[in-house]
Amino acid sequence: MILNSNIPEGSISDKWTNYKSQVPLVSPSNKRRIQILVVGTGLAGASASASLAEMGYKVKTFCFQDSPRRAHSIAAQGGINAAKNYQNDGDSIYRLFYDTIKGGDYRSREANVYRLAEVSTNIIDQCVAQGVPFAREYGGMLDNRSFGGVQVSRTFYARGQTGQQLLLGAYGALSRQIYKGNVQMFNRHEMLDVVKIDGKARGIIVRNLITGEYQSHFGHAVILATGGYGNVYYLSTNAMGSNVTAAWKAYKKGAAFSNPCFTQIHPTCIPVSGEYQSKLTLMSESLRNDGRIWVPKDKNENRLPRDIPENERDYYLERRYPAFGNLVPRDVASRAAKERCDEGYGVGSTGLAVYLDFEDSIKRLGKNIVSARYGNLFEMYEKITGDDPYNTPMRIFPAVHYTMGGLWVDYDLMTSVPGLYAIGECNFSDHGANRLGASALMQGLADGYFILPYTIGKYLSQDIRTKPIDTNHKEFKKAESNAKEKNKKLLKNNGTQSVENFHRELGKIVWDYCGMSRNKPALIKAIDKIKNLRKDFWKNVKVPGDDNNFNPELAKAGRVADFFELGELMMRDASERDESCGGHFREEHQTPEGEALRDDENYTFSSAWEYKGDDDSPTLHKEKLIFDTVKPTQRSYK
Ligand SMILES: Cc1cc2nc3c(=O)[nH]c(=O)nc-3n(C[C@H](O)[C@H](O)[C@H](O)COP(=O)(O)OP(=O)(O)OC[C@H]3O[C@@H](n4cnc5c(N)ncnc54)[C@H](O)[C@@H]3O)c2cc1C
Repeated sequence: MILNSNIPEGSISDKWTNYKSQVPLVSPSNKRRIQILVVGTGLAGASASASLAEMGYKVKTFCFQDSPRRAHSIAAQGGINAAKNYQNDGDSIYRLFYDTIKGGDYRSREANVYRLAEVSTNIIDQCVAQGVPFAREYGGMLDNRSFGGVQVSRTFYARGQTGQQLLLGAYGALSRQIYKGNVQMFNRHEMLDVVKIDGKARGIIVRNLITGEYQSHFGHAVILATGGYGNVYYLSTNAMGSNVTAAWKAYKKGAAFSNPCFTQIHPTCIPVSGEYQSKLTLMSESLRNDGRIWVPKDKNENRLPRDIPENERDYYLERRYPAFGNLVPRDVASRAAKERCDEGYGVGSTGLAVYLDFEDSIKRLGKNIVSARYGNLFEMYEKITGDDPYNTPMRIFPAVHYTMGGLWVDYDLMTSVPGLYAIGECNFSDHGANRLGASALMQGLADGYFILPYTIGKYLSQDIRTKPIDTNHKEFKKAESNAKEKNKKLLKNNGTQSVENFHRELGKIVWDYCGMSRNKPALIKAIDKIKNLRKDFWKNVKVPGDDNNFNPELAKAGRVADFFELGELMMRDASERDESCGGHFREEHQTPEGEALRDDENYTFSSAWEYKGDDDSPTLHKEKLIFDTVKPTQRSYK
C-alpha cells in the first residue's frame, strides 16, 4: 500500500484556492449520468448528499435510523467554531488553524487543517442562510462563546442544541433534493459491505432493517459519512446506534485505518452510576465558560459542597493552568480530573467525580442569563441526577466521547481505495491526537458542503465513460453472499449469552487498557484478552429471531462483532505508538508535571493500518507529518 496524501503545492494559504481553480470539472450533462452513494445522514452525510445533488449528480443516500434527522449529530450540544472574529478578540484563519494543530498535539496534517479553518467562515453564512437559529446578542449580531484550548470566542451556538439546529438545516437541504428527485433516500438500510471492482469502489451491500432484504447498489463513487466508533467502549456519550461497521468493512476491503487508538475522553459527563448502565450523558464543554471545576482540599471531606468554604476548595485547573484555567483542552482537563480522583480527592459515592460549579456565575450574571445560556443542559442534568445545578454544583467525570481515529484519507478526502471517500467523524483527518471542542461539527459540514463537492470532481472527471455496472456482477454477488453468511452464522449459533453481555465485557477491556492512560505490557495483554473474548462471542452468543424481518438484536450482533476486531487494532496501535500525545497517554512517557510527552523524532506520523486477512497481523504504514508552517513544541496551557 502506498499512501500519497496528495497535498497541493504552494504556500499553505494558497493551496486550496489554487486547487479549486485548477481541479478538473465534470460537465452538467455528465453529472446527470453519474451515480454517487452516500452512507450516513449526520451533518457530514446530509450536507454532502444535498450539495452533490444540487450540483447535478444522481445521489442515493442511506442511513440506519428511521429518518435522516435521527443521526447522532442531532445530539451535539455546545457549538461550532468559525474564524469570523466577530468579537474582535484577535481571531483569524491562521489562529484557528494554529489552535487546532496545537490542540491535536501536532499529530495532524497542516494542509487539511488550514483548509478547514479557511472554509469555517462559509459554514456559518450557509447555515444562517438556511435559517439555523444561532444565538444572537441583544443588537441582533451572532453571539459567540469560548471553548477549550483557545483564548478567543469563536464558537457559534444555538443554546445547548447546536447539532439539532444544524442538522435540521442540512436535513432541509437534503429534503429539498429528495423532493426534486435528485436524492433517493433509503432510511432503515444498513450498509454491510463495500464492493470493489478492478480495484475501485463500485458499490455497497445493504440490508433493509425492516424487511431483512439484502440489496446491492452500484455507484461511480461511494462516500462514507458513518460517524465515530466510541461505542467500542460500550459506555460512551455517543448515540446507542453509533458503530464502526461501515468503516470496518471498508478497512477489510483495502482502506487504511488511521490512528485507531486516538480517542477523546470528555471531561464533563455525568458519572457512571451503576454496573448495568448502558449510556453516558455529556454535559457540554460550553459549561466550562461559566462553570468552575473544583474538588475539596481535604481527602476525607463529607460536607455538602455548599458548606465547604472557598479557601477549602481546590480549583485545580485554575491552579495548574492559570492562562487557560477551566478552558484547557479536553485531554488535559480529563487527565487532571482523573489525577485528583486517583489521589483520593474525588467526590460523590464512588469518589469518581469532581464538581462543576455555577455559584459564581449566577452571582455575576444572574440566574436568567445562566438559564438562557445553558437552561436545557441544567434541566437534563436535574432529570438524570435529581440535583438542581442552580443550587448545588454538578458532579462530573470524564467519559468516552469522540474518536479522532478513522479511515485514512488524502487531501481529497479519498481513502486508499480509489473512489471510496470518508467524511466527518468516520475519517481521521483534522484533529490529530485530541479534538478541540466545537470543531467536529465544523469539520463535518466543511467536508460535506465545501470540500468533497470540489474534490470528488477530480476523480469523477476521469470516470465519465464508466457505464453503470450490473449488480449481478460476481463481485456484488460475492459480497452479498458473504454478508448473508455472516448473519446466518450469528443466528445459527444458538449460544447462551446476549450480545449486550459481550459488548459490556469488551467495553470494559477497552476502557481499562486503552482508556485515559495506557502502558505497553497492559496493551499487549489486552490483545489476548480481546482475542479470547471474541472466540467466546462466536461460540456462545445467542441471537434470537431470523434475518428476514426486523431484528435489532441481529443488527447489534454484527456491529459488536466488528467492534471486537477494531478493539484489537486499537490495542496494537496504542502499543506501537511509544510516546504520549493528546488523548493517547502512555504512562511511560510523561513530563515531571504529568503532561503528555511526545517523541517527535520517532512518532511524527499518522499510523495507517492495512488489513492482511483475519488470521494475519495488519501492516503498519506511516504517513510522515511535515510541519512547514507551525513548529511543534511542548504544548503548554499554563
Ligand atoms: C453528546 C455529544 C455532543 C456533541 N457536541 C458537539 C458540539 O457541540 N460541537 C461539536 O463540534 N461536536 C460535538 N460532538 C461531536 C459531533 O456531534 C460528531 O462528531 C458529529 O456529529 C459526527 O457527525 P457525522 O456526520 O460524521 O456522523 P453521525 O452524525 O454520527 O452520523 C452517522 C450517520 O451514518 C449512518 N450510518 C452509520 N453506519 C451505517 C451503516 N453501516 N449503514 C448505514 N448507515 C450508517 C447513521 O445512520 C447516521 O446517519 C458531540 C458528540 C456527542 C456524542
